[in-house]
Amino acid sequence: MRSFLNIFNRKKNTSSPKVIVLGIDGAPPHLILDEWLDDLPNIKSLLSHSIYGKMESSVPPSTIVAWTSFLTGKDPSFFDVYSYTYKDDHNQQRLSNSRSVKEKRIWDYLDHLKKRSILVNVPLTYPITSLDGIMIGGFLSPDLNDSSVFPPAVRKMIEKRYGKEYLFDVGSGLAGYKNLPPAEMLSKAKAMTDQQLTLLKKFVQDEKWDFAMAVMLGSDRIQHTMWKYHDPKHRRYPGPNEYQNSLKEYYQYLDAEIASIKEMLDDNTYLIIASDHGFTRMDGRINLNDWLIREGYLVLKEAPSEQQKLDFKNVDWSKTRAYAVGAYFGRIYFNRKQRDPLNGIIEEADVPVLQKEIYEKIRNIADDQGQPLRVLPFFPQDIYKGPYRDNGPDLYLYFDDLKWGVNNDVGNEGLHNLATTKGSDDAGHAPYGMFILHHRSLESRRDDDIKLIDVLPTMFKIMEVPIPPGLSGRILI
Ligand SMILES: [Zn+2]
Repeated sequence: MRSFLNIFNRKKNTSSPKVIVLGIDGAPPHLILDEWLDDLPNIKSLLSHSIYGKMESSVPPSTIVAWTSFLTGKDPSFFDVYSYTYKDDHNQQRLSNSRSVKEKRIWDYLDHLKKRSILVNVPLTYPITSLDGIMIGGFLSPDLNDSSVFPPAVRKMIEKRYGKEYLFDVGSGLAGYKNLPPAEMLSKAKAMTDQQLTLLKKFVQDEKWDFAMAVMLGSDRIQHTMWKYHDPKHRRYPGPNEYQNSLKEYYQYLDAEIASIKEMLDDNTYLIIASDHGFTRMDGRINLNDWLIREGYLVLKEAPSEQQKLDFKNVDWSKTRAYAVGAYFGRIYFNRKQRDPLNGIIEEADVPVLQKEIYEKIRNIADDQGQPLRVLPFFPQDIYKGPYRDNGPDLYLYFDDLKWGVNNDVGNEGLHNLATTKGSDDAGHAPYGMFILHHRSLESRRDDDIKLIDVLPTMFKIMEVPIPPGLSGRILI
């Protein structure tokens, strides 16, 4: 390995401090930093020289959006990604990818400064871009190929080591993991994490680098599918069971790995452990597009006879004012003339009126047992400052602090559901992730006001990189 990558070691290693980020997708702060902390001795010991606490996620707290916010230091309206899917100008459903990101991420700045980055499975990096360093694409990468790994020598090394078994995600395709049986889920999540950490450790030791980052998605996958086994408050908690401690044991495994990675770091390296969002049990889902149909905001040409995905070709755009996408947070788009000159019917001046009208109608919605749900709205004009705000949703709705998700399939019975056509979830994303910045020079300080956008300027400060204009986050050190 060292031999064929030597050509990349030509750059002078500067003496400015380095940063390594261990991203643990969806690690919940209330478990890691509080409830389970005594069972995570290595994380606990890091905290005596760390700035740490809850970290507020993006709106929406979606994996690809939140990590991109972390890496750009900006809200989604600057980088123009709001969801896995979006509607294009031809009313086709499209999947977001790395080319959708319209902002520089940390490695773009560093590459320009001749600093080397090592990136292992960072979300929304497929198709990868070449850089002075190593990039293994995120979980949307379909398989090992020249668009998912750079440089080709590293792809060949991975292929030789893992063959076709290299896991970009635990299931085939986005959300393909949702129907895996628990034992298989656990072993795949563990195998995937093990591959990621093995590669990261190899690169950390063998390569010259200034910034290294891996994002472990196993945590997110097991939490979506296995939360009910550990949480007695969950509606579908089966009672004491063989998977009761599986989530905690996964974090104990990570805790041991964190210790072994820390061993490899020199005194000049700062360690960040972070999650992009937290997690909360999911009680059910609101059938948001069915609600929009019932209220006359969304009009279909043909009524669906059973639960099915919303087909944009079946939408009567001449009568439709709003539709929703996504599965955890209500993301409502208005059929605006400005965005879609051909089919749009909503004038810009009517956008705030429609936002208020829909929120006022839905705020009294109840759960499946008749209990009122807390509905929290977000209006893009209040939360987004970037140039692409008009491309995003026109209204976000969080139901019951995200203990209720949404289901945007149509043709459901009633307004409540557990599963979408992709399957069900035991738990969904919560609006706060966690953050730990460790270095032996730091004094221990808990700070629960950290935001995703604070991390990039903080990393630049540590790395002695001039902070570019336009980053409004708080420097944490
Ligand atoms: Zn997730």
